[in-house]
Amino acid sequence: MSVYSWDEVGKYQNDVARIIKNSYRLNRISHAYIFEGPNGTKKTSTAFLYAKSLLCTNSDAFNPCNECHNCRRVENRTHPNLFYVKPKGKVIKKEQIKDLIREFSKASIEKGPRIYIIEEAEKLNLTSANTLLKTMEEPGQDIYQILITENYNSLLKTIISRAEILHFKPIDRNLIKEHLVKQGIAANIANSISEYTVDMGSAIKFAEDFKMINIIKLVTEIHNSFLVKNLSPILLFKESSQDVFQDQEITDFFLMLMIFYQKDILNYQLRHLDSICFEEEIETIKKLADKIAQKHIEQNITNMLGLKARLKYNINNKLAFDKMLACLERGYKYATYCSGNTV
Ligand SMILES: [Zn+2]
Repeated sequence: MSVYSWDEVGKYQNDVARIIKNSYRLNRISHAYIFEGPNGTKKTSTAFLYAKSLLCTNSDAFNPCNECHNCRRVENRTHPNLFYVKPKGKVIKKEQIKDLIREFSKASIEKGPRIYIIEEAEKLNLTSANTLLKTMEEPGQDIYQILITENYNSLLKTIISRAEILHFKPIDRNLIKEHLVKQGIAANIANSISEYTVDMGSAIKFAEDFKMINIIKLVTEIHNSFLVKNLSPILLFKESSQDVFQDQEITDFFLMLMIFYQKDILNYQLRHLDSICFEEEIETIKKLADKIAQKHIEQNITNMLGLKARLKYNINNKLAFDKMLACLERGYKYATYCSGNTV
């Protein structure tokens, strides 16, 4: 886990950072938080930052120093006062919570605050939740708890009522793009990925995955082939179709990028240049935009969105994608168009 700060949290989750910092300032730090929000919104990193801020021996206005023994042990997840529980399989087992409570009472615990973080807390079953509740009800102890969940409505009401809920919002696409570019990812790739997902974790995973990078390349090659008479997009696709169909996520990514590219052509015509995703392809986009009327691009996009909706019904993907490419090719090369429902 990289070094994370409250300023950084503020960039992604302004409300969360503000509430925690204010509570610290007013000496009203809550002993039980529920961090709630969709996947990829940095709930876990924020929970560990919170633990670090509580344990740091040199913290300044709740900002950990990142250098002291405690900070380093939180970073390495070896601090004896910090407990992290993740579900084993589909549930958090009663034994896991019992172990946690047993660990808490051990002599190896150091003085100072004790913190536990429970990931996917909605997977606590009734017994685990009840065992946990008991610790939440013991006042006066220097115990802090963070329950992390994507859906706090599935937590027990009794747990919700004892904790303060902090809502984590989906991260702004521009911040994801900025982050990827900072990591040295090309603008084209950072744009495509941040258009596709607002889950920071998946975005980083995609950017490091050569399979995803190859898909981005394929989409640009296919669009370039619309401008070259003897290049066939269907053949290009055929050469890579194994990659595209190797799993559902990649198939979906490919189709979404094809749609983004069509939207880029439309945005170019509308002079919405700021909204263009494949910005390094601007020359190709310009040429393609000259070859097609706005209503036909709109039709293409509608057809492709229709195809995306049908993908989950086990249609013959290969045939459907070939048809889509043939339609696009006819439009750009020969100005003949497919009507709706033919893709
Ligand atoms: Zn420190």
